[in-house]
Amino acid sequence: MSRLSRKFKVPDPLANLYDFANSLDLRHFVHHGMQHREADELAGPRELGAWMSRRGLLSTGARITPAMFEAALDLRSNIRDYLQRDAADRRKAKDAVGALNRAVQLFPLAVEAGHRGMVLRPARSDALAGLSAVVGELYTASIDGTLDRLKMCASEECRRVFFDRSKPATRRWCMSSLCGNRMKTRAYRERRRALA
Ligand SMILES: [Zn+2]
Repeated sequence: MSRLSRKFKVPDPLANLYDFANSLDLRHFVHHGMQHREADELAGPRELGAWMSRRGLLSTGARITPAMFEAALDLRSNIRDYLQRDAADRRKAKDAVGALNRAVQLFPLAVEAGHRGMVLRPARSDALAGLSAVVGELYTASIDGTLDRLKMCASEECRRVFFDRSKPATRRWCMSSLCGNRMKTRAYRERRRALA
């Protein structure tokens, strides 16, 4: 879990997945007169190591190589591509599913019995092993249905991944008061312009 996952009430079993998908911040809207700047928490192998370390996902002092870093970015972009689709469409999106499968193959998991019952453990043992936790969360969230509630904000200027806590699970914006309103105002203006 992280400060942000707690703030937005993302269930803890999904927190690493949520944080990982949002380590790329593409928001570029103006809010309260301030231009939001796009940012990438995973700017390089060192930053990836720090990101993992903060979440207890770094169990070795070994270096993250450039190839490992590429595998991590590939995993993130394919997870984001999967999550940006409507929950009902994801499973049928052949290209996205194929690409996500190729990316997760580098993060194999093994079942292990422990004091909490059966758990998924990384099958890798190198510096990138801890990132398998993100893939494990994808799997368990898919089993318990919470993955369908992990969505990407429909605003092109936002693209944050959010957890939809609404009962019907039909939310399209990370924050209705922010992204939803901005999009509605724009649609209204465009309709007015079309009528003028
Ligand atoms: Zn948004």
